[in-house]
Amino acid sequence: MSDILVVNSGSSSLKYQLIEMTTERTLASGLIERIGEAGGGRAVHTLPWDEVPSVDRTDAPSTTERELPVRDHVAAFGVMLEAFEAHGPSLDSHRPVAVGHRVVHGGKRFFEPTVVTELVKINIADLAELAPLHNPANLQGIEAAQQVFPDVPHVVVFDTAFHQTLPPAAYTYAIDADVAEQYRVRRYGFHGTSHKYVSEQAAQLVGRPLAELKQLVLHLGNGASITAIDGGRSVETSMGMTPLEGLVMGTRSGDIDPAVLVHLHRRAGYDFDDLDTLLNKRSGLLGLAGTNDVRDVLAGRAGGDDAATLAFDVYVHRLKAYVGAYYAQLGGVDVISFTAGVGENAAPVRAAALAGLERLGIAIDASRNEAQSHEARVISTDASEVVVLVVHTNEELEIARQTLEVVRG
Ligand code: ADP
Repeated sequence: MSDILVVNSGSSSLKYQLIEMTTERTLASGLIERIGEAGGGRAVHTLPWDEVPSVDRTDAPSTTERELPVRDHVAAFGVMLEAFEAHGPSLDSHRPVAVGHRVVHGGKRFFEPTVVTELVKINIADLAELAPLHNPANLQGIEAAQQVFPDVPHVVVFDTAFHQTLPPAAYTYAIDADVAEQYRVRRYGFHGTSHKYVSEQAAQLVGRPLAELKQLVLHLGNGASITAIDGGRSVETSMGMTPLEGLVMGTRSGDIDPAVLVHLHRRAGYDFDDLDTLLNKRSGLLGLAGTNDVRDVLAGRAGGDDAATLAFDVYVHRLKAYVGAYYAQLGGVDVISFTAGVGENAAPVRAAALAGLERLGIAIDASRNEAQSHEARVISTDASEVVVLVVHTNEELEIARQTLEVVRG
């Protein structure tokens, strides 16, 4: 047996997935949300169809849901254990050999998956300065999981790690160098686990060695980023010191003239918390169209809604600008992959982002692009020099793979 439990702990949520590593099959996954909230929490546990006892098989997959109070992260792990006990698979026969944890910010210290020690935890806590919403919550999850699984190694996999190969020209902000050094102000990049996984899948799909390929990965979820990958190494990415920089996202503005902040402070009395909330939570598609869900934006646009149409246009305009910039940085591209909720599902976004780029060797096939499928697939024309793909991202599997690699040595 070589099962890995993957944990993604947020401030009020815990996501988990148990993966059997010989076949890389998910045995169960779950989400516990509203942890510590007065109104009570919610727990969902899902089994893939072939893990459901045959007498219970009705539809695939099988999901059970509970509403219950969940005091804190330790209690959330208790709820998870109860779900495994009640609905399977049994953790006695599927005892994880290690627990892999997603951690958002690894700063410049962590460039590879790392076994959790007291020192590692101190470093993750120290990096909370750069990711105040994420790292403390990740750490809470690690400490709770260590209480529940004290006898197995715990491994941390950082969202930033894949981007530690960025050259100085790409990660340095052009500000006073001493200030930047003192306060660790530089670009780190995020979604690294997804960019790495998808670029490896893409290389397999086109049947060429990763080392030979120049790739763009467009991770378009609620958060969104694009990465230029040369020979398997991240060389440029759109998120910066925090996940706010770069593309237009569900609720984040992405790139903006920094002087806008000064202006809003001086003219409208916004303080730093107001600005943080404005740019991270009230901007992007939500700010422009009143919804952060691309499905609603597409529906609004199809129905002739002006705000939804503008939101769509701004979103793909930025995306195309980045595709062009990174194409230039790489000096050409072999493969472009779309991934995550928007990238995998929103055909109009893919079509508009790459429209009119035939002179760059990029041509989308309309019917391939519009076909709905969960399979990884080519959506460019046979004549397109650049192969354009839709690839399902699987950050949990990537974390599990890296965790196993570390514990196997
Ligand atoms: P997260 O960044 O939260 O992990 P996901 O990668 O799951 O997000 O992406 C979530 C987003 O994907 C949703 O907010 C929605 O905008 C978009 N999305 C999901 N399904 C579709 C769909 N069928 N068509 C268009 N957009 C979709």
